[in-house]
Order: sequence, then C-alpha cells, then structure tokens
Amino acid sequence: MAPAPSHCHATNGNNGAIAASDTPVKTQHCARLLDADEFRRQGRLVVDLIADYYAGMGEYPVHPTVSPGFLRHRLPAEPPSRREPDAFAAAMQDVRDVILPGLTHWQSPRHFAHFPASSSTAGALGEALAGRHQRRSLHALHLPERLLFAGGGGGSILGTTCEAILCALVAARDRKLAAIGEGRIGDLVVYCSDQTHFAFCKAARIAGIRGRHSREMPTYRDNAFGVFSGALRAAMRREADAGLVPLFVCATVGTTQTTAVDPVGELRGAVAGGVEAVDSFSMNAHKWLLANNDCCVMWVRTPSALVAALGTDQEYILKDAAAETAAADGGEGVVDYKDWGITLTRRFRALKLWLVLRCYGVEGLREHIRSHVGMAAAFEGMVRADARFEVVTPRRFALVCFRLRSPNKKTANELNRRLLEEVNAASSGPYMSSANVGGVYMLRCAVGSTLTEERHVREAWKVVQDRATSILSKMEIIM
Ligand SMILES: *Cc1c(COP(=O)(O)O)cnc(C)c1O
Repeated sequence: MAPAPSHCHATNGNNGAIAASDTPVKTQHCARLLDADEFRRQGRLVVDLIADYYAGMGEYPVHPTVSPGFLRHRLPAEPPSRREPDAFAAAMQDVRDVILPGLTHWQSPRHFAHFPASSSTAGALGEALAGRHQRRSLHALHLPERLLFAGGGGGSILGTTCEAILCALVAARDRKLAAIGEGRIGDLVVYCSDQTHFAFCKAARIAGIRGRHSREMPTYRDNAFGVFSGALRAAMRREADAGLVPLFVCATVGTTQTTAVDPVGELRGAVAGGVEAVDSFSMNAHKWLLANNDCCVMWVRTPSALVAALGTDQEYILKDAAAETAAADGGEGVVDYKDWGITLTRRFRALKLWLVLRCYGVEGLREHIRSHVGMAAAFEGMVRADARFEVVTPRRFALVCFRLRSPNKKTANELNRRLLEEVNAASSGPYMSSANVGGVYMLRCAVGSTLTEERHVREAWKVVQDRATSILSKMEIIM
C-alpha cells in the first residue's frame, strides 16, 4: 500500500495522527475519513449516546462535584500516535464514563440556574446537518416592519449576543464619525444601565469607546431595576452641553440578573423624539427557543450602516441599490452576510433554526415558553405562600428572584448565600443561581430547561423549604 499524501495527517482529527510521523498512514485509512458505512456505524454510536444521555438526564447531579483539572488525571496526557482499533467506540466510552459525569447538565429538568440553554432533538440534528446558506424571517416576533427586509431593514443570524452588540455598535460609531469627523472618537459616549450585561461595555471597549465614556445608569428596586428615561435624557443633555457626543443606548428586555425590562419605547423617545422602532434588535434563540448553542438573531433598520462599518469591498452603496431593486421586485435582494458581521466563514445556523421552527411550529414554541412561564408562576405562588420568604423583584417571564426574610438586615445576605449553598449541595436536588442587585443578595430560580415538568419545580421548592427550616432552626439554637 502506498504512503498517504501528507495533507492527510493534518486533516485527520479523529485519531491523533496530527503531527507528521515517520510511520506512513495508509491511504485506505484516508478514504475511511468519509466512508459512508463507517459514518453510519459511528453516527449510531453518537445518537445512542445522546439518546441515553437525554433519557438518563434526571439521574445526574445537575452540578458535578468535580474540581477543575479532574479530567487531566483521568484521560491520557498524550493522544495516541496511531489509529487504534475501534478508537471511535473507545472515545465514546470515555465521553460516557469520564467526560459526561464532569459536566454541569444544563438540560437537566432540575437546572434552575442562570438562564436556560434550551436544546431540542430538532436543534441537535439541525446542528449536525448544518452546511448550506439560508435566510429566514421570524415574523412570529411581531417586530416593527422597519427592521425587516420588507421594510428596508434586515436580519442576520450570528453566534452570540456579544457579537450582535459589537456589530450594531461599530455600525453606529462609524455612521456618527462620518458625520462629525474621525478625530472625535474620543468624544463618543454610550449608555446602558447598571443591570446591562457586561457584553455591552466589552463591545464598547472593543469598538474604541473610552472606558469612562460607557455610562451605566443607576437602577432601583422601586422601579423594578429598569432605567429611568428622564434620568437618561438629563445625562445625555449634560454630556452634549459639555461637548461630548451621545452615541448609543442599549436597552434590555429581560436583564440577566432579574429579567428587568427597560422601557424601550420611552428610551427611544428620549433619544430621538418618539420613533416607534429601535435601530437594532437582537435575541438569543439558544436561550429559550430550542436552538442549540449557538444562535443569536439580529435585525437592523439600516443595513447599509452595518455594511459601511463591516463590509470589505466598499461597494455597499451599489449593493444596497441592488438589494433595493430586488426588494422592489418582490424579492429580498442579495445579502453578503460577511459584510453584516465579523466573520467571513459562517456556520449554517439558519438551518438549525429553520428545522426547529419547522418541527415545533410557532404555536408549539409559544406553548413551550408559556409552560415555563406557568411553572415559574407556580413557583412564585409557593414562595409567596411561605411567610418566611419574599419575592424580591416582580416575576417576569420565567425567572423568580426570592430570598429568606431576615430580622437582621445585616446578615440577610449571608443567610441567603448559605441557603443557596445548601440547596445546591442537596444530592439529586435542584441547581439554582444567585443575583446581587442594589446590595440585595437573592436566589434565582429560572425555569426553562426543556425537560422540566411541574413536579421538578415542586420538588425544587420542597428542597428550598427543607434547607431553610434546617438553617433557621440551627440559628435559633445559636441565638
Ligand atoms: C445571555 C445574555 C447575554 C450574553 O449572551 P451571549 O450570547 O453569551 O453573548 C447578553 N445579554 C443578556 C440580556 C443575556 O441574557
């Protein structure tokens, strides 16, 4: 048999023969990299593994007790130098026995921490199928017409919110600098609230906005941690009077810590005098819409601003004209998405999202969301029915922020920190997370796992109550 061509070494990620070795790899083996029968056999192993994982999900502790680095001791330090017989099956066994038990199981029905990272079988298979290019409008969201292709705007699918915010910010920055002169980049000021995800300030830094020009407007519990549009307007006026240039306001519908909602309409009014729509909007379909990681949809009002900032051939005016002509002809025009985002090479996320929409339907997705909201409302009811507890911020969507009341304000945070620790330590119990807003530490119960049923929510509450009883009685003994 002839030695393999050298490029085969580099493309073979499956068996560790990455560096050129002095033992020639056989051509027959290269052919097997895309062998249809081999693929069927290996594919079945993967599907079985995932299916077993889904079926046994409830059995795993949601949050493993392993420490960082534990895998180093359980897996060989070096990859094998040559293909081992049936290496794929052996690797799957390692995944099952060694790797899976060390993961936090975000798909567990007892996962109530952070936010959902929802998965579905259609999403998983869509991920596996990804390979071609396609566009899709999510009319189900009732977005303003001007953000859609039909209204002169347009949408794109990116990986994450961090990416979407950066693209929008860079487009806004360049549009502004084109008007006031490049030299004034140091005068640009951007606004968000003290509840906005760090993604925004990080994007501002990458976009060259000075750190001290990222303004975090304070929020308060009385106002359910939303931004005050009046305060924002005053801050912008002050800054403009001082010779600075207000550039960008980032509003959030459902903040990360407490799902607070900024008054988007009012803010938009404060910025530009009552325009109905925002300039851009993004949403993570990988959070709650069953599109497995990663999948963030973004719409913009003025695609040409994105293209001006991120396009690579400076022909955007022509292209926009071509797109407009095509749109006028009833088509959606041609979009070169490399000019709408950071990357040239893109994963085919649209296929995954399309498969999810197609398989579950808009109404099915609505039911999915409503059922989580219903379960969260039930959890909220249980918290309210126990006088020892309080619901800290009004429940919106499917997140309940709650805490134990404490006679001693000073130790309340400590008490609740301990409660969360004990809740999460309960074997086969729930896994929740925390928020600390305005100095108030609270527990977060975020319903959203695909597998969560009412009984999981009831059981989770039972664990919280039991742990609280135990902690409070220990405290009484001490006192
Ligand atoms: C999750 C989340 C983000 C970050 O999303 P990525 O997709 O991880 O970048 C930003 N903002 C809000 C409100 C979020 O909930």
